[in-house]
Amino acid sequence: MLGTGILKGMIETARNVAGSYVDAERLTTVEYPEVKLPPKENARSFPFLVFDGDDPHAGLRCVACQICEKECPPQCIYINKSKDKKPDHIGKPQLYPATFDIDVSVCMSCQICVEVCPFEAIKMDQEFELSTSDRFGGLLLTKKELAKSNDYYRRLHPTEAGEIDAKRAEEKAKAEAKAKSDAEAKARAAAEAGAKVEKSPAATPKATTATSSPTQT
Ligand code: SF4
Ligand code: SF4
Repeated sequence: MLGTGILKGMIETARNVAGSYVDAERLTTVEYPEVKLPPKENARSFPFLVFDGDDPHAGLRCVACQICEKECPPQCIYINKSKDKKPDHIGKPQLYPATFDIDVSVCMSCQICVEVCPFEAIKMDQEFELSTSDRFGGLLLTKKELAKSNDYYRRLHPTEAGEIDAKRAEEKAKAEAKAKSDAEAKARAAAEAGAKVEKSPAATPKATTATSSPTQT
């Protein structure tokens, strides 16, 4: 029957309003901002940049590839690449963003930047209390404000962060095993080359016979 859904919704609301006076389970709202409900794991507000360890510069995962900047629908990401490089989690030298800004007054929280990033470097935050009277500079978040630790990311999105940690640990272990086997192969090759030199007959100097021509007297 037309309007059944609306009627059911109104009955549920009425039951909650009346029931909340006698049953705490029926109290579906809290007195925000004094009381805040913890956000759900998949809740999202604006992006932030993840760094590993304690150093936001050394541990920053972003390699300034600029894919997110190109793919962001409202074009609110601004990146300048570094001139030098720093090692990533597997020790490979990578560029990093000299500057990385996001204008959150324009960001529409679509999460496309997160989905296109190949380096697990940008993730969605849950912080939404960002109101400011400075409409321009106040909502342009810089690299310093955007960089947040992997521990923070784990607290917001534990399932997703756990999977990424496992994947990165595996990549690191593979890279270390490869570096170890390369070093062993190099050492073996050097030892074999040394053994060949030792086995080869030593170069003997040619015997020279000194003949003196008879002198006529
Ligand atoms: S969430 Fe969407 S709009 Fe916001 S920075 Fe990322 S891609 Fe751009
Ligand atoms: S956040 Fe990811 S996609 Fe964006 S520049 Fe950094 S590494 Fe590239």
